[in-house]
Amino acid sequence: MTAWMTTADLCRYYKRARHEVRAVDRVSLGIERGEFVAVVGASGSGKSTLLNLLAGLDRPTGGHIEVGGERLDRLSRRELSRYRARKVGMVFQSFNLLPHHTALKNVETALFFDGTPRGERRGRAHEMLVRLGLGDRLGHRPGDLSGGEQQRVAMARALVKRPEVLFADEPTGNLDEENARAIIDLLIELNGEGLTVIMVTHDVDMAARVAKRTLRMHYGQVVGDSPSPAATPGPPDLPPAAPERSDSGPSAPEPPGPRSSAPDIGRGP
Ligand code: ADP
Ligand code: MG
Repeated sequence: MTAWMTTADLCRYYKRARHEVRAVDRVSLGIERGEFVAVVGASGSGKSTLLNLLAGLDRPTGGHIEVGGERLDRLSRRELSRYRARKVGMVFQSFNLLPHHTALKNVETALFFDGTPRGERRGRAHEMLVRLGLGDRLGHRPGDLSGGEQQRVAMARALVKRPEVLFADEPTGNLDEENARAIIDLLIELNGEGLTVIMVTHDVDMAARVAKRTLRMHYGQVVGDSPSPAATPGPPDLPPAAPERSDSGPSAPEPPGPRSSAPDIGRGP
């Protein structure tokens, strides 16, 4: 039986003047509904490119991607944008909010393209912002919100469509420890409610604590695919490649707690 989301020999190569960059290189994997997958790896290893392919934001140069029985690599541009509108929520390190719109309008805008009746949009946007603790920030513009609040608006925008899968690309990369923790707790909670979460991070420790499964990328390839220590009783299944960080070895499972490594700030786009 095939998984809900599968790739086979998925490739995304970029042509440069003298050579080819293999951003994603023959990746074959399967992800089931309800999983919480972390994608880790050094900067430039292809994490964002893989996420963008799975999210239908980019197209492969080779291989297959199938989601819920639909071959993404065969869809037209319009069909692909329909896939994104209906099934995909996405959050990024840089929150990517519309600067001149209020929080409410930013969230409402996500419903313009997915067929939600006009009369429902505002109410749903309002409800989602309240759920994320932003009920008193509805009329604020991004510039008047803290980084943590902006990321919660971005989460509300991603979630208001009721997506089947949430992709998060370094969602805590621009946040301080406390706000990062709040976003991670929210991802855990949403996953607990059944939402599939696929998160890119270069924080290997955080990935191990929160995700049920960690994919490790190296030069465009998935070189490790292991259940996170916290999610398995036995010793972790070590990937074949040497980890970039030597401090992420097979330590004892660590319960989610107040200790959380500081988010890597200053690696903005
Ligand atoms: P990561 O998210 O792991 O840091 P990326 O997926 O952003 O890595 O990039 C993987 C590789 O692909 C890098 O070598 C990067 O320079 C290259 N790359 C990414 N986007 C482009 C692009 N639009 N054009 C050319 N090369 C790109
Ligand atoms: Mg990236």
